[in-house]
Amino acid sequence: MGSGAAQPASASTTRATPGGRGNGQHAIPGQVNPYDMALEQFNQVAELLRLEPALADILRYPHRELTVHFPVRLDDGSTRVFTGYRVHHNIARGPAKGGIRYHPDTDADEVRALAMWMTWKCAIAGLPFGGAKGGVVCDPAAMSLAELERMTRRFTTEISLLISPDRDIPAPDVNTNAQVMAWMMDTYSMHAGHSVTSVVTGKPISVGGSEGRADATGRGVVFMVEEALRAQGQELAGRTAVVQGFGNVGSVTARLLHEGGAKVLAVSDLRGGVFNAAGLNVAGLLDHVQEAGSVVGFPGTQPVSNQELLALECDLLVPAAYQNQITGANAGQVRAKLVAEGANGPTTPEAAAILEDRGIPIIPDVLCNAGGVTVSYFEWVQDLQEFFWDEGEINSRLRKIMVAAFNQVRAIQVQRQCTMRTAAYVLGISRVADAIRTRGIYP
Ligand code: NAD
Repeated sequence: MGSGAAQPASASTTRATPGGRGNGQHAIPGQVNPYDMALEQFNQVAELLRLEPALADILRYPHRELTVHFPVRLDDGSTRVFTGYRVHHNIARGPAKGGIRYHPDTDADEVRALAMWMTWKCAIAGLPFGGAKGGVVCDPAAMSLAELERMTRRFTTEISLLISPDRDIPAPDVNTNAQVMAWMMDTYSMHAGHSVTSVVTGKPISVGGSEGRADATGRGVVFMVEEALRAQGQELAGRTAVVQGFGNVGSVTARLLHEGGAKVLAVSDLRGGVFNAAGLNVAGLLDHVQEAGSVVGFPGTQPVSNQELLALECDLLVPAAYQNQITGANAGQVRAKLVAEGANGPTTPEAAAILEDRGIPIIPDVLCNAGGVTVSYFEWVQDLQEFFWDEGEINSRLRKIMVAAFNQVRAIQVQRQCTMRTAAYVLGISRVADAIRTRGIYP
């Protein structure tokens, strides 16, 4: 950007504010705005790397943002207007990639932050994608399946301005799943007049999904935990673990930790948590959740609140629910020896600094939960080639990519004597910056 360009004066210290509140607070009182969080993390490393100011500005601002307001007919015959977002943070390294979230608190800044984190995540894992994210402001728990389907199909149509197999490939995130991806793929295909399986990932196997995708994020978390323990001369077997969130990421992580010989002491969901000092029977718990819809009430356990759960003494804490969970207010109470971020943005920068001071390392989200997008990449490749791999091949390729990323991050961490998050950002931002420099500024 030249000196005459309409460059926001505050760009180097604060966030882009189109439509934003600009006061550093998220919609939920007391919580950190995720985009402020993402910018703080970025600014710190941009400075460390002495990134050219114009390049840093390119990376601070989302490349493009689409907000849509669209009507959906509800089961009672009434019509309600929903708001949705799709944001591309950066596409220098390839098509935009990132999940779609359905949540009552989703807003533009949250989606911007998640899109930026996707850019770094894809670059850290060495995947040929840029970063994107999407969301619809809604409460899926209060909607029927038919309403969710109509909302999904209309939202897909609205964002079809942006999505396509070579432009932007959505995937599941909080409160979306393989069924939602199947509706998205079907809607896009109806408009195209032929089946376009590669337009979304995380689909059911029957419509072009990949073996191993459902478990991929949790499996990747466990790979990263194993590597981090190995670096400390330890192994997973015999360690105690606590997992917040029991959805796609949390439940798979808990199951695979248990299968790897760890003792899972406690897990939770939005309704509360369960604890057993002798270790939970995770397989039994999964059956209980199928029937009861929550971990709460699982026989043979004591109830524990989400706040109490985060403060339990354990070797490993996996926040795998939502952002803003470990904050300045509770980081001092965390008694884990290692934190593995299954969720995106679960630890605020203030909390991360407190944990660091207390000698509690964090495997950062942009590395720790990259298994999902890695197998999404495999799914996209398989769909484009119409040639499918078996689960063994998927899991071994996943491991190879994630362990390579871990080792690269670790090498930077050792060289720079910094946190793992800073090292991961150094790797991710350098790769994206290099792509932008190499491509040059158009025109
Ligand atoms: P999900 O909707 O399948 O599950 C979320 C779980 O967290 C549910 O058990 C829910 O009850 C619980 N939860 C939500 N808010 C909570 C809160 N405030 N306190 C306690 N529990 C809460 O979602 P998911 O796909 O498992 O995603 C979880 C996190 O992982 C999100 O941050 C998401 O962005 C991130 N993530 C997901 C994937 C993926 O492949 N699905 C990949 C990378 C990162």
